[in-house]
Amino acid sequence: MQRPIYLDHHATTPLDVAVLDAMMPYLTDAFGNAASKTHPYGWEAEEAVETARAQVAGLIHADPEEIVFTSGATESDNLALKGVAMAYRDRGHHLITSPTEHKAILDTCHFLEQQGFEITYLPVDRTGRVNPDDVRNAITPQTILVSIMHVNSEIGTIAPLAEIGAITREHGVLFHSDAVQSVGKIPVDVDALQVDLLSISGHKIYGPKGVGALYVRQTGPQRIRLEPIVHGGGHERGMRSGTLNVPGIVGLGKACGIGHDLMPEESVRLGRLRQRLYKGLTSRLDDVYLNGHPELRVPGNLNLCFARVQDESLLLSLKDIVALSAGSACTSESHEPSYVIQAIGVEPSLAHSAIRFGLGRHTTEAQIDTVIDAVVEKVERLRALAPSPTPVTSGS
Ligand SMILES: *Cc1c(COP(=O)(O)O)cnc(C)c1O
Repeated sequence: MQRPIYLDHHATTPLDVAVLDAMMPYLTDAFGNAASKTHPYGWEAEEAVETARAQVAGLIHADPEEIVFTSGATESDNLALKGVAMAYRDRGHHLITSPTEHKAILDTCHFLEQQGFEITYLPVDRTGRVNPDDVRNAITPQTILVSIMHVNSEIGTIAPLAEIGAITREHGVLFHSDAVQSVGKIPVDVDALQVDLLSISGHKIYGPKGVGALYVRQTGPQRIRLEPIVHGGGHERGMRSGTLNVPGIVGLGKACGIGHDLMPEESVRLGRLRQRLYKGLTSRLDDVYLNGHPELRVPGNLNLCFARVQDESLLLSLKDIVALSAGSACTSESHEPSYVIQAIGVEPSLAHSAIRFGLGRHTTEAQIDTVIDAVVEKVERLRALAPSPTPVTSGS
């Protein structure tokens, strides 16, 4: 059986063949422990890890010493928030974030609330952006950290990080960003954005699953302290103990290197394909509404509401043709509309009809044309079956 066209690149990406090739020796012959200092097996592994550290750092304009390897962005987000909260709790107990963050941030915030920390969830506008003035107004003498994701994983909106970074810097508050959906897709420069901590995941950028990184600023006005959440042998300068996942780290490094090289061309190509998909669908179907920002979004993301269609019915009718999702993979078990779609104020009658199209490195024009035809056909059929059309009065 032929598998459906893959348009769920926000959930995960296929491993790049060149990444697998780079990893292979470290899964077999070069099996050394990067912490073994007394023989060539260890030296070889350590050298590979340091090369990867430089590749990750290079993609975000950081110094290699500022990269801490983790098991993925969920751990990076946990380490950033809990690590700062615990290390700076003598200074304050207040953190600021937004309701459209990934669950790795929101659930960690809920945990910190149980530990006595106070969290402010700033609203987002209709396009999914936090207003930097709201950040400024929310900062109190108790505030230790602001965490705002760079690109939203459902609606693709790019946050005003540089503006927020300028405000946090001015107030001496630390600034973390979950950049899983931006790194390797749009330029990320930790100095230009003035972020102090930044989370990265391997499998969202054509690298392996189970590996990620946290950038932790070591230069400039603040040298950041982090209380580790995993204790042990003191690896990664004490911030994250545990024998390093050498093949995974090598893969993450290679994926960052490739992402860096391909980004200029790939972002233009994906932007065109996304536009073709958007035009193709909206020229042939009525009552289709864009979620997220019309321009300030990553090239590979399109999120649309199809009025009078249930997301689940549409996804089910398309399942043999195209692999899509309504929102984040982590919440797709529930039948509630996506919390991101709700937070941007999509009216309830439309909220159940949001579909995320996630284009990626191997998406072709022919695939996009197939998807347009299929979606148009299924939406028309589902609408014809619908008992009575609910009038729609607004949308964006
Ligand atoms: C996928 C994702 C994560 C989690 O990353 P893992 O490496 O799978 O733990 C965190 N944040 C965002 C925005 C994501 O898209």
